Amino acid sequence: DPRLQAIFEAIRVIPNFPKPGIMFQDITTLLLNHKVFKDTVDMFVDRYRDMDISVVAGVEARGFMFGPSIALAIGAKFVPLRKPKKLPGEVISEAYELEYGTDCLEMHVGAVQPGERAVVIDDLVATGGTLSAAIKLLERVGAEVAECACVIGLPQFKVKLDSVYMLVFHLPFNQ
Ligand code: IMP
Repeated sequence: DPRLQAIFEAIRVIPNFPKPGIMFQDITTLLLNHKVFKDTVDMFVDRYRDMDISVVAGVEARGFMFGPSIALAIGAKFVPLRKPKKLPGEVISEAYELEYGTDCLEMHVGAVQPGERAVVIDDLVATGGTLSAAIKLLERVGAEVAECACVIGLPQFKVKLDSVYMLVFHLPFNQ
């Protein structure tokens, strides 16, 4: 797809953020370019518009930058999956492993009904731990996750993810 090269080039790589040795993939530069931002959203919309999706679940925080636009365009609801103690109502929680320690995602009870079909959106997949927690949250309430989608894939999968749609790939330590 001719849109992919511009998407790739619009992502800024910042070395040693947030700590030494990490090459941070920064999608905020992609958001500054209206055409590339729209093309990115459109690529997901093209893929999901006819897949009978009723839920777009976005992972805090950068999944919130793409998910709502996709949801509006395909006629689905948007459900935020948030870090602990951010959602005010009753939640279900799913812990997941980080390189050092654990983290957790939460979803409001009642946001998604049994039998709904969902896609999960985030900016980047590395080990897949975050997306796995998101999938578990949706499946616990009886929803079906049709697919997960990210703008960037870093090939470091440690957990099995049957299906992740990624627009561009960056090597973990390329520049
Ligand atoms: P995973 O759980 O190991 O797949 O890591 C993915 C999560 O970490 C996503 O929520 C990303 O937003 C975040 N993340 C990890 N590395 C980067 C990066 O270089 N840029 C932006 N987000 C990152």
